[in-house]
Amino acid sequence: MSGSADDPVAGSAERPLISVVLPMHNESRGLARLFERLVPVLDAIGRYEMVAIDDGSTDDTLARLKQLRRSYPHLRVVSLSRNFGKEIAVTAGLARTSGACVVIMDSDLQHIPEGIPALMEPWKREGFAIVYALRVGLDRCGALRSTLSAAFYKVFDFMSEVKIDRETGDFLLLDRRVVDAFLAMTERNRFNRGLLAWAGFRNTTVPLEVEARHAGSSQFGFLRLARLAVTAITAFGTLPLRIWSYIGMIFALAGLGYGAFIAIRTLIFGADVPGYPSIIVAVLVSAGVQLIGLGIIGEYIGHVYSEVKRRPLYLVQETVGFADSPADEAVVVEPETPLAPDLGGGE
Ligand code: UDP
Ligand code: MG
Repeated sequence: MSGSADDPVAGSAERPLISVVLPMHNESRGLARLFERLVPVLDAIGRYEMVAIDDGSTDDTLARLKQLRRSYPHLRVVSLSRNFGKEIAVTAGLARTSGACVVIMDSDLQHIPEGIPALMEPWKREGFAIVYALRVGLDRCGALRSTLSAAFYKVFDFMSEVKIDRETGDFLLLDRRVVDAFLAMTERNRFNRGLLAWAGFRNTTVPLEVEARHAGSSQFGFLRLARLAVTAITAFGTLPLRIWSYIGMIFALAGLGYGAFIAIRTLIFGADVPGYPSIIVAVLVSAGVQLIGLGIIGEYIGHVYSEVKRRPLYLVQETVGFADSPADEAVVVEPETPLAPDLGGGE
């Protein structure tokens, strides 16, 4: 069995040229295929490591990763204590990388491993610190999701202090300097692309095809995306907070104007008692607007609260394949874990 002794990188002083960070939540079914495609690409590049983060999977992702490590000694595994979400899983992975550059990619083969050399080119040749894959090809979401996503980018653009490009996704390459800068940002409410945009550095894009998900289905439903959108917007600016004084002013002016209009009308035409529908409309609208304002303030207070508590960003349950990990021989694959039918028959 291959252990860390076969690993040319673990424990050695020489660091890999490239680390690949692979966040995974219940991706067991597509793993064999992922590494079959990824490893030959990396073998051709040079010294590398793959850091897979098991983000609290409830399937046998972790057991499979341990098995796959026997075939791929450059694979290292960080298993989180529960599901922390992709943004944090990526952070946990980055913290464990040592490569001169790091590629972050999804583990469902939507990001094609064959695109990695293209991402490395601008970094190697022109010294770009961040290289984003520009999403081309497959429009992977329906019309509704597309419209909502376009709306999110518009609002984010307007509200936030940083700019992000709608055409770029989560497939990207970072220079070590950027990884260090990113890890120095300790905030709890994380929107990785916003953090990278805030960090700055010279960046460029490379057009790459996006493929269909290899197995399973997307784990980002509407609610989860909405949550991420709110985190993103509130984490990168205070316009949503400040805007309420302007909205308040508009309401107050409208109220005054309407008041003056009624006063003048009463003076000219005499008292006019009916009019309670307009009162109800005014009460409902102003109450609604105030509640929205309160909700937004609550959102920010929630962020402040979670920052103040200073809990760790994530907890690691187990690591495999790092210099400080227990020896692989100690790894026991649960006997009841069903092996994938395609696991041994990949070649
Ligand atoms: N992912 C994760 N933790 C989560 C949800 C997703 O690490 O809580 C991983 C998932 O395994 C995949 C990547 O994040 O590698 C992107 O997830 P998904 O394909 O569900 O999202 P989409 O491609 O639809 O944006
Ligand atoms: Mg996906």
